[in-house]
Amino acid sequence: MSQFWSAGIADLTPYVPGEQPKMQSLIKLNTNENPYGPSPRVLASLLDEIGVDANKLKLYPDPDAFFFKNAIAKRFDLETSQIHVGNGSDEVLAHVFQALLKHKNPILFPDITYSFYPVYCRLYKIDFESVPLTPGFEILVDDYLKPNGGIVFPNPNAPTGCLMETRDIERLLCGNPSSVVVLDEAYIDFGGVSAAALIKDYPNLLVVQTLSKSRSLAGLRLGFALGHPNLIDALERVKNSFNSYPLNRLSLVAGVAAIEDESYFEKICSAVIKSRTVLATALQRLGFEVLPSTANFLFVRHPQHDAASLLEKLRERAIIVRHFKQVRIVQFLRITIGTDHECQRLVDALCEILTE
Ligand SMILES: *Cc1c(COP(=O)(O)O)cnc(C)c1O
Repeated sequence: MSQFWSAGIADLTPYVPGEQPKMQSLIKLNTNENPYGPSPRVLASLLDEIGVDANKLKLYPDPDAFFFKNAIAKRFDLETSQIHVGNGSDEVLAHVFQALLKHKNPILFPDITYSFYPVYCRLYKIDFESVPLTPGFEILVDDYLKPNGGIVFPNPNAPTGCLMETRDIERLLCGNPSSVVVLDEAYIDFGGVSAAALIKDYPNLLVVQTLSKSRSLAGLRLGFALGHPNLIDALERVKNSFNSYPLNRLSLVAGVAAIEDESYFEKICSAVIKSRTVLATALQRLGFEVLPSTANFLFVRHPQHDAASLLEKLRERAIIVRHFKQVRIVQFLRITIGTDHECQRLVDALCEILTE
């Protein structure tokens, strides 16, 4: 607290991201990055953009991200007026909260969900109500059929990995014609079907995606929102009142290359999905309860072993996973799907720890 701070700053509770360790040798299964690198076309696009003298970098990037929006439009069969892009989907979500979710009624999101949502609510002074997941950690549509100022959740949900099926999403959209329903599809490419195809039928649907996970570009910060031009207009107004150039030249060209290389994208998503099945089985054999996951991570607990102590013992063996201190999930660990070699190292380490 300082006399120099603006009013309200001392009351903020910032989001705490998972650790990005300085030590390179750790097996990093804590922040849901993709274990495979980005498409080889990404590097080619970066080299092409920089050229031999980096002279292009003297110029501002395109404030409207024309080529990047075009690539996304083509991929999702939408118009560019239905697309908003930002510096990671976290920035897109920040604009969504400010532009679309501040109304008289509180917004709704699950009690167990992406922990950035309550942070944005405090930043923008938006009332929210957290709706408990079912005992099986699922989102029940009927719990969201009541007056609200908007609805937001990841699909599949994080950190549980549970997917809501399209027919339930449609029921949610039909039941909330006067609220914006935001689906944060950060993990949709690992086994789900995007709701992007519903945009033409539902003017209240906003789909948010990121290139950080399924396209392995977390380091470049690329995210986007898809929806009716009316929703996109609100996001663009906030964006252009905040930063005209949220995406730099290198991110923009890499984003195009990554979106266009559909076959590489499909290849690495399938590899992650395959490894997820193998890892889930191996963990179940070790006695873990594994929630069904449609994401690039597993959410697991062991009936006989304390999660915090497992976390500690894994770290001693140079493996980091994620643990959340929220009461309801304090005995769970969230484990990112790594390469098969990394998953095997994790299983070996756990085997050792459990039989100690
Ligand atoms: C990773 C993640 C994001 C943020 O993605 P960025 O594009 O890297 O900012 C948003 N929502 C959820 C649920 C995530 O897990």
